[in-house]
Amino acid sequence: MTKTISLLAKCPHCGKSFMDDEIKLHDVPSIKLNIETQSNRGTIRLCSVYGCYDHLCDFDLKDGEIAKFFCPYCNKELTSNMECEAPNCNAPMIPFTLELGGKVFICSRKGCSNHFVAFEDISTEVRKFYHEYGF
Ligand SMILES: [Zn+2]
Ligand SMILES: [Zn+2]
Ligand SMILES: [Zn+2]
Repeated sequence: MTKTISLLAKCPHCGKSFMDDEIKLHDVPSIKLNIETQSNRGTIRLCSVYGCYDHLCDFDLKDGEIAKFFCPYCNKELTSNMECEAPNCNAPMIPFTLELGGKVFICSRKGCSNHFVAFEDISTEVRKFYHEYGF
């Protein structure tokens, strides 16, 4: 599979789109969020390509550090009660609601590249997504 998919993510609380057309990563709009670690607060832009973990952060994120993510519009934290299943990680997973339906979860630990997609219902759109991208 060489095809890339751009996830259109929005806030699970206020429903505003996180997509930022002004700053692109891998030629697709980035996902803009507020980020907080033990020592810093700032803005992060995540690559919206599924499976890619490239990002731009306005401060230095250390490898292994766990960050908290907040909606830039309503400022609510993006949290789930799910933990990362990567070996020796167990960091909280961060949920995004997808425009398509369902959710994508990413690990909150810098350097961990765990992503997964969870669909709430199998609509035509979702089947198309599975079909086109081979999940
Ligand atoms: Zn929000
Ligand atoms: Zn990317
Ligand atoms: Zn992880």
